[in-house]
Amino acid sequence: MAKGKVYLVGSGPGDPELLTIKAKRLIESAEVILYDQLPGDEILHMLPSSAERIDVGKYAGNHKLSQWQINELLVKRAKEGKVVVRLKGGDPYLFGRGGEEAQVLVSEGIEVEVVPGITSAIAVPAYAGIPVTHRDYASMVTFITGHEDPTKGETGLDWELLARFEGTLVILMGVSMLERNVKELVKHGKSIDTPVAVIERGTRPDQRVTVGTLADIVGLCKQRKVKAPAITVIGDVVKLHHELIRN
Ligand code: SAH
Repeated sequence: MAKGKVYLVGSGPGDPELLTIKAKRLIESAEVILYDQLPGDEILHMLPSSAERIDVGKYAGNHKLSQWQINELLVKRAKEGKVVVRLKGGDPYLFGRGGEEAQVLVSEGIEVEVVPGITSAIAVPAYAGIPVTHRDYASMVTFITGHEDPTKGETGLDWELLARFEGTLVILMGVSMLERNVKELVKHGKSIDTPVAVIERGTRPDQRVTVGTLADIVGLCKQRKVKAPAITVIGDVVKLHHELIRN
């Protein structure tokens, strides 16, 4: 029987032209593709009908398949000898649970290969005219998950450290927690004048950018009904948005 293999493939942030050549080749030749909605419609429409396409539909709070079930399905199909693509938005190893999936596959003796993708954490700000570093504004950048569960009480994030950090803060999965996150930063001493941009559906045809400061971004986002997926960028690099925005 053919030996199965799983490719953990990053699809980039949504613009199909930001798929890597390798990702495109693997998608086109896969026998099984497991995906969720994060890659976006334009890329999902490219999935070939010749492949078994499985929507694992992990949508915020509405998991169609649990992570455990996804792992099990990857293992099962690979053990059937199939070439499997596990397609993930952005890069598989940045907040994508790709590392966990790879560990499970390796522990099951399954061959696995990661295909890095262009991460939304850098590309989405770029399409909004925001370089995450710039010699005049920031020589450090940090990527944060904004989706810590508030019911857990203490968050896993060190807000005191983040408030003092002089580089750019890029928050992923931060829409539902924006108000809490902004409050924590201000409480720990970050200036309320710090520029902030929230970019929804970045690199896609309906990209939308909301720009403000720590003082007013929460109100602006409520007013504009900002929704996931969105990237929040906090720091002086946001000042470049008006100068460098492409559209
Ligand atoms: N592995 C992915 C991130 C997965 S976490 C990557 O490297 O990009 C999911 C989060 O990614 C979303 O909540 C959102 O914050 C961000 N995201 C992914 N694609 C996006 C897009 N096109 N526009 C805005 N945010 C996006």
